[in-house]
Amino acid sequence: MATCYECGAKRNAGPCAACGVPVEAADVTGAPRGKILIATDFHGHGDPEGFHIHGGPSHTRLAGPPIELGMDQPGAEGFVQLVSTKEEHGSVEVAVSARFTVAPNGGDHVSWGLSLRECWIGEYVVRISWTGAYSVMSYQSNGPDEVHVPWTAHPAIVAGVGPRNRLRVAMSGDTMRVFINGVQVQAIGARLLERGKMHVITAPHGHSVHVALSMLEVRKT
Ligand SMILES: [Zn+2]
Repeated sequence: MATCYECGAKRNAGPCAACGVPVEAADVTGAPRGKILIATDFHGHGDPEGFHIHGGPSHTRLAGPPIELGMDQPGAEGFVQLVSTKEEHGSVEVAVSARFTVAPNGGDHVSWGLSLRECWIGEYVVRISWTGAYSVMSYQSNGPDEVHVPWTAHPAIVAGVGPRNRLRVAMSGDTMRVFINGVQVQAIGARLLERGKMHVITAPHGHSVHVALSMLEVRKT
């Protein structure tokens, strides 16, 4: 039995039962991964060690496998934090798998993703839309927003409602690399922010969002 490159779970051929990444894709990224600092498969109740789950009664644990954290969010503007690290981190890799459980009633850019190094200065935001595109932005409290990657379709992303995608962002010093389903889709400079909290987010764009999260990890880079 092989070990999943993305999440470390034991696996057979085909998509990894734990994180959803297909074996062909996950094997191409090569180098050994860093040590896990905190991780959760969302088993059990309450906050997993090292994380805070937002949303009160709007979240439920879905029967697995894998166990998923179902998050039902009403329409809102801006970003909604779903799960946050309790501590600030600098050079770490954050990964989570997610899927839309209900079709959004409009809005091509209804999305989920990761907010990285979020602090009083700003945040980096990487998102995957339900239509199969991704984007990379940075936001500053006292400066301009920056579009690092505008909404771009990528063949590594599985579009639509139902299938999981795994998003992994490796923050290493002043670079950030974005992986989707084990495939590196982007590498960009990240000089603006040194450290901060890491969050799983949605961007509802005024529509209700229903997503299910699984296998959240923070590793050393
Ligand atoms: Zn896996």
